Parts: sequence; structure tokens; C-alpha cells
Amino acid sequence: MRIIFRRWTLVPFAAALFLAACGGNGSVTNGATSEAAPPPAETPQQTVPAPEKTGGFDGQRAFQHVADLVTIGPRTAGTDGNHRAQDYIISQLEGFGCPVDPEAFHTPTPIGDTEMKNIVVKIPGNSPDIVLFLTHYDTKRLPNFVGADDSGSSTGVALELARLLCPRKNALTMWIAFLDGEEAFNVEWHDPDNTYGSRELAARMAISGDLRRVKSVLLVDMIGSRDLRIKRDANSTSWLTDMIWSTASHLGYGDIFVSSSTAVEDDHIPFLRRSVPAVDIIDLEIPYWHTPQDTLDKLSPRSLAVVGHVLIAVVPQLEQKSARASAALLP
Ligand SMILES: [Zn+2]
Repeated sequence: MRIIFRRWTLVPFAAALFLAACGGNGSVTNGATSEAAPPPAETPQQTVPAPEKTGGFDGQRAFQHVADLVTIGPRTAGTDGNHRAQDYIISQLEGFGCPVDPEAFHTPTPIGDTEMKNIVVKIPGNSPDIVLFLTHYDTKRLPNFVGADDSGSSTGVALELARLLCPRKNALTMWIAFLDGEEAFNVEWHDPDNTYGSRELAARMAISGDLRRVKSVLLVDMIGSRDLRIKRDANSTSWLTDMIWSTASHLGYGDIFVSSSTAVEDDHIPFLRRSVPAVDIIDLEIPYWHTPQDTLDKLSPRSLAVVGHVLIAVVPQLEQKSARASAALLP
């Protein structure tokens, strides 16, 4: 994924410092130039909340998934590590009793025709309306890059979400897609060398007719940082972003889901292009982004628990919105 630089972000450095010091909404940072943060320390803030306090979401379980994925090593699309990550995700999902649909495909890439696989959990609900959760599980093709935050953190959260949602009787149909090939094979992010998995999933769902049933897409990506700070994404659908940010605020996470915004290109774009409401929950402004320093010690189970809690808490609101829309269609 990448941040789209917009004109208003190109303010002079001194002004940026002023804005940062004043807690203003301006930002010139990206993953590589984020303002220097003090080294992380264990503070009471990073105590992991018990699952009873986070809608049943267990931050420690999510964190263990991240640790297991990091142990696999690099997981770039088409590699052995990627296949081992697929095996891990599928075996975990099957252990939770989830209906799992591995969707293999192959696609031209800068390194030649490459095999990829989206792993899609499809949990039936009382309503045909679909809430689609997304994460990617591949890692950037860089030397010694194990991607604890990118893409371990969101994959760990999505697995823990599956453990909670699969055995539940849900009002809405819930799909959780573990996407391959989000990362560009080349160093730079240029279309079409990115979002291979999400483009494939959106296209398949359009052909099958399932895409019409998708009322919201909730993408998580890079949400494990100890110093988590998630800005609103200007590309995301406003009402869905509002719903998530107000939920986070009510839960007391206003310091993490902050009100300033940026614009990100990521796996939600193929769905937005097909007019499906979508939101990207991402903290891309981390100093270790796409470096070998993206390791487990940079993450906090608390950050995973906070994001998981918000996702779980948003579900009843999406159910109510869907029920209201259905009622409005009644004669
Ligand atoms: Zn990445």
C-alpha cells in the first residue's frame, strides 16, 4: 500500500514541525519519514485488555498468530514461505470450524506468471447481505523482510475475528478474505503491480453476483504498532469511516483512531472502483515500514485487541443499517 501525496501535505518542514508540536491535523509524514518517536517502553497503556472487555476478542491469541507467521519468515507471493502461510491460515480456520474456500489463480507479474491464492471464509447469516473483512497475508519482496506489522498484524486480527464469528449465528453473512499479492513485486508501487488478490476477488465476486450483496468492506492492514495511530483514509467511504471512528471513540480509543486524515491506496480500492462501500483501517506512518526492522518487538497485543474490539463492536451497527435498508424496500 502507499500514501498518496496531496498538495496540502506539502507544507514547509518548519510548519510541519509546528503542526506536529501543536497536535494539528497537518501531516507531511509517510512511512519512511515519520516523526521520530521515543523507543517503545512497556507502560500500563500496553496492558492487553482481557477478552471480556473487548467483545471477546483476544489480543494475545491474535499476537500469537503474528508470532507464528513471523516464524515462517518472508511470505512473498509465489514463494515457499507464502505457501506455508497459506497452510497455516487454512489449518487455523479449519480448527475454528470456519467454512474455508481457497481460491487459487495465477497472474502475470514483473517476475513472470505467478501462482497466488486468496483464502475466503464464508459464514452464512440470516440475511444475504455480506460484510466483507479483508487482510493481505503476503509480504513485500525485500531481503530479510518478515513483515510482523505488514502483513502479520492484520492477518492475526482476521484469524482471531474468524475464531469469534465462525461459530456464531450472525444476522448478516460474514466473509473474511485473506488476500495474496497485495504488495508490488517491484520496489515502487505502480499499477498494475499491486493488489493482485483484491482485484481478483472483486472481479470474481462481480461475475458470481456476490458483489451486489456486499454492503461494506472493512480492510485492516498494519494495525499492530505499539504506537498505533490510525488516521482516516480520504479514499474510504465516508459513512463507513464515520461509523468506525465514532465506535472507536465511544469505546475510548480516540487516541488511536485519530481525526486527521491521509489518503491511501490499498486492497479496498478495487472494491471502491466497483462502487462498494469500503474502509481502510491502517497506520502507514511507521518508521520501520518496508524495512527488515518490521519485527515482532515493534508490535503490541493491545493494539491488535483495540482494532479487534472496534471491528466486533461495529458489526451490530452494520446489522441495523442493513435491516433499515431492507425495511425501506418493503412495500
Ligand atoms: Zn507493505
